[in-house]
Amino acid sequence: MPSKTDKKIPPYISVIVPVYNEALNLSPLVDRLLHSLRPMGKPFEIILVDDGSTDEGPQILRDIKAKVPELKVVLFRRNFGQSAAMTAGFDYAKGNIVISMDGDLQNDPRDIPRLVAKLEEGYDVVSGWRKNRKDPFISRKLPSVIANWIIGRSTGVRLHDYGCSLKAYRKEVAKNLLLYGELHRFIPVLASLYGANIAEVVVDHHPRAKGKSKYGIGRTYRVILDLLLMLFFQKFATRPLQFFGLSGGLFLASGILIETYLTFLKIFLGQDIGNRPLLLMGALFIICGLVLAGIGLLAELVIRTYYESTGKRIYTVREVLD
Ligand code: UDP
Ligand code: MG
Repeated sequence: MPSKTDKKIPPYISVIVPVYNEALNLSPLVDRLLHSLRPMGKPFEIILVDDGSTDEGPQILRDIKAKVPELKVVLFRRNFGQSAAMTAGFDYAKGNIVISMDGDLQNDPRDIPRLVAKLEEGYDVVSGWRKNRKDPFISRKLPSVIANWIIGRSTGVRLHDYGCSLKAYRKEVAKNLLLYGELHRFIPVLASLYGANIAEVVVDHHPRAKGKSKYGIGRTYRVILDLLLMLFFQKFATRPLQFFGLSGGLFLASGILIETYLTFLKIFLGQDIGNRPLLLMGALFIICGLVLAGIGLLAELVIRTYYESTGKRIYTVREVLD
């Protein structure tokens, strides 16, 4: 049985796909993946992470699994979200090269060989660029154009398309992305924080033929919050006191200045200051300043506990020449 020995060879490429209620897409997805991966002539594995589907998806996956030895299926107990499903894929991946993509057939597996070739040129992450994106304009493409512009501008990671799921990574980068919440949309930013060099490759995109999109326009708001989080992380992840301390200090200083001025008016000029709005403002500034500085100190403790208790380093090493 060749398939028994095949399994022993560690995969070179791991393709990970999160799927949530994509029953109608599963079989064509695996077919197309096999069609693109087999001719590459490298050992590979396909990891489908079922994110708590409530349709017939899990049963279909069991059936396909019985026929395809290269397939690995991870079934979640409930719906944890796309980021969690991708993280599980990264965790279970054994290949040196990891590919992520959507399970709704909008990404095209035929692009995988080109992504891999680009990665092998020496990049750590190769991100797909849906130059001809086939999605509704108002609810998808327009917000995405704006988001891409803002993210590029503010984070300094210049890409055309952050939202494309089709990406290739070196193993160590994929395994070190911590995709809390819905941060899968910010993988290029997280990867650049890790120190990865990132390239972009134009990929195909198809309209969603079967099943429904899992997101609505409501994600815009969450993307904005996540962007703020990313900006904070980029600058202050290992030194939060510098962020909170600076803003807190400014508040405190202006509060003290205001109150000193009012005290001067009261004591030396005998003016009545009880009914002046400035009095309240000064007091609020002082309180804000103290609270912010306190948060900064707490954040410093939290961040240190995080790094020291997890054994994580505050740096990443590309290579050691010894
Ligand atoms: N997905 C998931 N869990 C979720 C939502 C989505 O695993 O909670 C998967 C979904 O099955 C698909 C991919 O994430 O494979 C992208 O989702 P979708 O196509 O709905 O997003 P869109 O293309 O509309 O941005
Ligand atoms: Mg989609």
